[in-house]
Amino acid sequence: MPVNRRIKLPDGESIPALGQGTWMMAEHPHQRAQEIAALRAGLDLGLTLIDTAEMYADGGAETLVGEAIEGRRDEVFLVSKVYPHNGTRAGVMAACERSLRRLRVERLDLYLLHWREEIPLEESIAGFEALQAAGKIRMWGVSNFDVTDMEDLFAAGGAACATNQVLYNVTRRGPEYDLFPALSSRGIPPMAYSPLEQAALPKGSVLEAIGRKHGADAYQVALAWVLRRPDMIAVPKAGDPRHVAANARALELVLDEEDLAAIDAAFPPPSRKRPLEMI
Ligand code: NAP
Repeated sequence: MPVNRRIKLPDGESIPALGQGTWMMAEHPHQRAQEIAALRAGLDLGLTLIDTAEMYADGGAETLVGEAIEGRRDEVFLVSKVYPHNGTRAGVMAACERSLRRLRVERLDLYLLHWREEIPLEESIAGFEALQAAGKIRMWGVSNFDVTDMEDLFAAGGAACATNQVLYNVTRRGPEYDLFPALSSRGIPPMAYSPLEQAALPKGSVLEAIGRKHGADAYQVALAWVLRRPDMIAVPKAGDPRHVAANARALELVLDEEDLAAIDAAFPPPSRKRPLEMI
């Protein structure tokens, strides 16, 4: 079994570097059994961090995750997200109760604000803190927060933020310029979403040639590249158990200096600030 590296959160707890996403799961009834099998196969392979959200399939993805982890709750580091329009203190608390019911668990390990809207961050933080005090969540964090959003979060009393989940892959390197250094200075590991660019990586790229050298494919190279950063958590989504197995094998793929230079040439790192992208 591939060894899943562990990433330290600011409170000292370590969580798996490679997890499993769930966006677009529970959208098609005929795929349901396979999606549940894929998540369970991932748990068997040590991909025990599962990322979901109240938004996904309108709560349906949480229900599906609840079914997939039934009897295995203790193995899982469970992450869900609250809609920004539920971001008031009371709204966060009520949304979390609904998520817990759908997931059929007593508590979340990590609860994220899905993205930022107008509700003051103090409100959302108060909701997260009340949920922690009530034992409904263990940690909280944010998603799609750029550098200035993080500064506002800290100014609003959000020093306990555990992670910032953002779009990051070979074709979306903007956060390397300023966001990742800003997070790193606080000991906050980033969590990469869409690390496979939603299966739309450019065809015929250097990723394929590097893959041939290592006996891997372009997706495994792209994932190994995201995970090359020592503080990076990544949550690829795979509803096909074969993709889950391929992603787990990417943990064993070590890219050398030559590979990294070839990727930098084809997908250059940012040389100036780019606004954080969202999918
Ligand atoms: P992704 O993980 O980059 O790509 C998922 C797609 O890649 C699926 O079509 C999947 O196919 C395919 N795939 C997976 N493994 C593969 C492999 N080894 N080889 C070839 N194809 C493979 O995109 P994503 O779902 O957008 O992002 C991942 C997760 O991040 C989401 O599921 C969600 O949990 C989270 N996310 C968060 C936000 C946010 O705003 N916070 C936004 C987007 C995503 P199959 O399903 O057929 O296996």
